[in-house]
Amino acid sequence: MQKDMQKKKKKPSPKLMTVASTQQITPNMQRITLQGEALANFPQDCEGSYIKLIFNAEGGTDIDFANMGEGQRPSMRTYTIRRISHENQTIEVDFVRHITHDLQCGFAGRWAMNAQVGDQIFIAGPGAIQDLNTDVDWFFMAADMTALPALSAKARLLPADTKGYAVIKVLEQTDVQPLEVPENLEVIWVTEESLEDKVRELDWLDGEVSVWVACEFDSMRALRTYFRNEKEVDRENIYISSYWKQGVSEDGHKTIKQQDAQEYGE
Ligand SMILES: Cc1cc2nc3c(=O)[nH]c(=O)nc-3n(C[C@H](O)[C@H](O)[C@H](O)COP(=O)(O)OP(=O)(O)OC[C@H]3O[C@@H](n4cnc5c(N)ncnc54)[C@H](O)[C@@H]3O)c2cc1C
Repeated sequence: MQKDMQKKKKKPSPKLMTVASTQQITPNMQRITLQGEALANFPQDCEGSYIKLIFNAEGGTDIDFANMGEGQRPSMRTYTIRRISHENQTIEVDFVRHITHDLQCGFAGRWAMNAQVGDQIFIAGPGAIQDLNTDVDWFFMAADMTALPALSAKARLLPADTKGYAVIKVLEQTDVQPLEVPENLEVIWVTEESLEDKVRELDWLDGEVSVWVACEFDSMRALRTYFRNEKEVDRENIYISSYWKQGVSEDGHKTIKQQDAQEYGE
């Protein structure tokens, strides 16, 4: 009985959130502030952690959890807590605006672009992503727009004397946004060039490096080859993750990611 209760406790329960505000902060980014009482219990240090947005099979947000059949699962999409205010019980989530014509997927992008103040959505989480090793000489960070919220949360908390690079690929020059980063962490915005090409162009600094990379699957693989195989950065000094895959929805991406991790020996 006690065991059953412990099991139940561990299972993340969906939390209902209400859209408190929504703003297109740059041409391809929608910032949505979600409000909900459950946020009062989120850890203090959850900025940069992820949440799952929960959708029904049609991409709607109306979900009857109580009558969900055995083995039935709602669709989930992963997003980052950019900011939390425990006082206001709100989180800020930045969504890349993208259009999917196939109505069987693209749920999160579509929801974010159409959300109105007062709309409701269930979320699960938060789940933590691997921390950066900060006991190093310098940092190399790289992200596309899906990982810009996570990079901004991570970089904001780096020690003040941190040096190195943060390379960020945006869809348009006007997607550049202000970031709070240590003075000697050089932020380099890329539009035309690929993330990999820009990363390869930058001078490799002396000493031990900590690498943080999150972006589209193919870019992630190219950057992994560079950092792991060519520069031989130690595994414990690298966080490298694909956040989405061109042409594949999140469920398909998850499967591909697992296969890739096995092949790569993660
Ligand atoms: C840990 C983690 C944190 C993340 N945090 C964020 C975040 O804060 N903000 C954010 O915007 N994304 C974030 N992502 C990425 C996000 O989960 C994916 O982009 C997700 O696929 C979007 O779901 P969807 O329902 O809109 O599209 P899906 O149904 O998953 O995919 C439908 C189609 O849209 C394409 N697609 C998906 N995302 C994009 C995109 N960004 N641009 C162009 N085409 C796309 C797919 O390739 C597919 O063809 C995160 C991912 C992870 C793993």
